[in-house]
Amino acid sequence: MTFVIPPAAPPSVEVVGTDARFPVHRVYCVGRNYAAHAREMGMDPEREPPFFFSKPADALVANGTPVPYPPRTTNLHHEIELVVAIGVGGRDIPLANALAHVFGYAVGNDLTRRDLQFSAREQGRPWDVAKGFDRSAPVSAIRPAAEWGHVERGAIWLEVNGEPRQRANLSEMIWSVPEIVAELSTYFELRPGDLIFTGTPEGVGPVRHGDSLVGGIDGLETLRTTIV
Ligand code: MN
Repeated sequence: MTFVIPPAAPPSVEVVGTDARFPVHRVYCVGRNYAAHAREMGMDPEREPPFFFSKPADALVANGTPVPYPPRTTNLHHEIELVVAIGVGGRDIPLANALAHVFGYAVGNDLTRRDLQFSAREQGRPWDVAKGFDRSAPVSAIRPAAEWGHVERGAIWLEVNGEPRQRANLSEMIWSVPEIVAELSTYFELRPGDLIFTGTPEGVGPVRHGDSLVGGIDGLETLRTTIV
């Protein structure tokens, strides 16, 4: 096959314990999946369940790679999240079988231009410019579930310049990992290579030029990002 311009390299993510990489198809995200975070965003988690949005796959940033402070914002926020990597595709996936579709888990940061998100929300506009900008998705190496098991509880945390900002437990997620996989697969046919950012706990806040972000989840690779 020939192309009229050179095709971009396919996005991919490191995998713990192997030189082989995880090829990324799509990046889905869950919004407001922790009650305390929904409340800090001014929403009522009792009345408004979580929902989905997405980022482009080429927004992914490898662990340790610096992220330039993005344009058109003065309020860039961190959102530390568990990331689910889909290894087996499907649609209308039954809840009881959902974990069989999961290849592994990683730590991600759903970087957000909060000022653009709030103005979009007020105007009833899409979130793409707030969520799907270039280099908006730092992600750690993926830990395969086949070797290490599934991740459904454990601490999730983020520090900025050594100061604690976010700390919660994955057990606080409103939608569990199986529920997210089952629900998402009723909207989209999931494909091998899809990543799902599963939502952030409370404590989101601004980051500035020069900040060092360190975030983690029990048992997964620590995610390190510097804003430059
Ligand atoms: Mn998020």
